[in-house]
Amino acid sequence: MKFGGTSVADMERIARVGRLVAAEVAAGKRVAVVVSAMAGKTNELVAWTDAAGAAAPGLAPSDEEYDAVVASGEQVTAGLLAMTLRHMGLNARSWMGWQIPIITDDAHGRARIDDVPGEKLGAAMDTGEIAVIAGFQGVSRSGRIATLGRGGSDTSAVAIAAAVGGQCDIYTDVDGVYTTDPRIESKARKLARVSYEEMLEMASLGAKVLQTRSVELAMAQRVPLRVLSSFVEPGEAPGQGTIVCDEEDIMEKRIVSGVAYSRDEAKISLFGLPDRAGVSATIFSKLADANINVDMIVQSHARSEGAANMEFTVGRRDAARTVEIMNGAKSEIGFADLAVNEDVAKVSVIGVGMRSHAGVAKTMFTALAERGVNIQVISTSEIKISVLIDAEYTELAVRALHSAYGLDKL
Ligand code: ASP
Ligand code: MG
Repeated sequence: MKFGGTSVADMERIARVGRLVAAEVAAGKRVAVVVSAMAGKTNELVAWTDAAGAAAPGLAPSDEEYDAVVASGEQVTAGLLAMTLRHMGLNARSWMGWQIPIITDDAHGRARIDDVPGEKLGAAMDTGEIAVIAGFQGVSRSGRIATLGRGGSDTSAVAIAAAVGGQCDIYTDVDGVYTTDPRIESKARKLARVSYEEMLEMASLGAKVLQTRSVELAMAQRVPLRVLSSFVEPGEAPGQGTIVCDEEDIMEKRIVSGVAYSRDEAKISLFGLPDRAGVSATIFSKLADANINVDMIVQSHARSEGAANMEFTVGRRDAARTVEIMNGAKSEIGFADLAVNEDVAKVSVIGVGMRSHAGVAKTMFTALAERGVNIQVISTSEIKISVLIDAEYTELAVRALHSAYGLDKL
């Protein structure tokens, strides 16, 4: 069972989590609970590390110490929940990442889990003890506390489920995975089931319900995954939530399962590039060397002979650095002008049914054209189509696509 920050935001909510855990134990289950920090806590801790850097200019907190600070939020909630369970007369103890251990690489702030030896934890659980585990944190190969990137408690939970051989229930402040963001489209429907692959695309394309890596891990380790609401009392029907599973285990076949959006993009345009082999390689090597992730790319011929234009998107927080790197290599790359546009949004439709159906792109482009939404860049994969549009039209586009694929009538 994994509980996110809003589910453990105060003692009253922690008590409710305690009741949900107790109900599972009473049903005869062996339970490990992974908790996030209280809502807002991690942001506050991150701000403290920024402040420490500002107080000592030129002496920014090192990544290791950043992790030492931001991992602390989960230590508090793990201890508080274990205490709560004990007060309820249950046998429980807290576990920090290093105690299990959850072994990670050395990429502090965004570490990947290398291994979770499940023996010690499994043995403790076999005695009937409830394991309450601090999410988000592990211990690096060099013995330092490491964190798994924002939203990383989801990944902790899947890793624990894989290590002790269980299913993973993600309890959160929504009651499942929706066809789109219900704050934008009130007709959004809860999906009873969604495939790992679709969930992976949805998470990486902007749906915030699960950390992308947690879905990747669940898919690789075949961990049965479910998203459900923590805002219920045991006994009250919690609903089935959304089950994330293999494509073969989904009966109703849909062509499109969801519409996702992200406003975290920036578009970079390079004009007047020489039209010859190796130019793209130079541009994208520079960005790769700086660890900047590029998403959509289009190249087109410029009006003048022998020249080309290139447009691509990067994460908005990488935009300034990208411009700096491009301008620094201006003569080497040989472009004439550069423009950056941060007022863009990426809207995507996702569905495994696309693999075997024609006309999915036509439906998308027609729906957008009818609303006068201009498409700046398009990218596709086997199971998704993404378009980059003016950020101003995000809501309009999401609603138009949601109804164009009949998702309001599921
Ligand atoms: N507390 C961490 C965060 O806010 C990890 C998590 O909640 O999953 O990113
Ligand atoms: Mg989360």
